[in-house]
Amino acid sequence: MRGFGFLEHGGPERLAYVEIPEPAPGPGEVRVRVGAAAFNRLDRFTLEGIPGVTVDRPHVLGSDGSGTIDRLGDGVSGLSVGDRVLLNPGLWDGTCEACRAGREALCRDYRILGEHTQGTATEFVLIPRRNVHPLPEGWSFAQGAAAPLVFQTAWRALSTVAEVRPGETVAIIGAGGAVATAAVQVAKALGATVVVVGRSPEKQERVLALGADAFVVADGARKLDRALWEWSGKRGVDVVFDSVGAPTLPLSVRSLARGGRAVVIGATAGPKVELDVRTLFWRQASIRGSTMSGPGEFEAVLERLRRGALRPVVDSTFPFTEGSRAFARLDAPELFGKVVLLGPP
Ligand SMILES: [Zn+2]
Repeated sequence: MRGFGFLEHGGPERLAYVEIPEPAPGPGEVRVRVGAAAFNRLDRFTLEGIPGVTVDRPHVLGSDGSGTIDRLGDGVSGLSVGDRVLLNPGLWDGTCEACRAGREALCRDYRILGEHTQGTATEFVLIPRRNVHPLPEGWSFAQGAAAPLVFQTAWRALSTVAEVRPGETVAIIGAGGAVATAAVQVAKALGATVVVVGRSPEKQERVLALGADAFVVADGARKLDRALWEWSGKRGVDVVFDSVGAPTLPLSVRSLARGGRAVVIGATAGPKVELDVRTLFWRQASIRGSTMSGPGEFEAVLERLRRGALRPVVDSTFPFTEGSRAFARLDAPELFGKVVLLGPP
């Protein structure tokens, strides 16, 4: 079957349509005919090659997906061929110490669909039964592919890891990335006052429409710590949600109030930072890392999506044959939400 991915690691010039064998579901697995896949920054890192992660090549990209159940492996119950579903891309082994303690997000062998396995940008995808959930009523496949990775990431990071409490202030760094559009909504759902830091005012209206309370602009001349310090009346913010990494994390930490938490979920602009640790102890602040989520967190955020309290934001939808154009869209300055690639017709 045909998939969109790569034969050799490298830059976008390596993106290609590849042939991989049509998979057959093993015990406890479900085969889904892909209706839509969606891309994340992670797909770019997988394309470039992540140190320590070996992928089968040819490799098909895409961690997010939705579609129709096509075949059930032995022992699968509660699902039928033809069901419309969305997929949780987080793969935990269920057997390690963390999994046995109900802390699957900390699984020793945690893997991600499309990073460690063949992904969703193809005709059929195999996935464990426990990762398959009914598509919410009235949702398109594009919406179903737009929700899973970013909403579970935002939910665990803000709810479990940063421990956001009602009435706290939360700053989201970045305005248009899909994870930011999810984090704004999740922080509001947790009862926080939310400020988004963007590089230019163009996205302000859309960010406020998602529920953010404020939008501040930070760029070379006006650093984000200065912007947040002013916005908060020189108090600092309780939580900063940072997915950018090198250029922003030191400034995020400087923006924290006493007892504040900077939660790091990615490093899209680089991994190495230099920090003044005096800020940490004097403000009794902390930096916490978070990635993906466990099944309980996935259920919690999906339940809110189902009843419309949270909404996936689709930036754009591309036909299956336009994978490279879809991938390039991740870098568009006007990006706002998820980039979706429809399944093959
Ligand atoms: Zn485990």
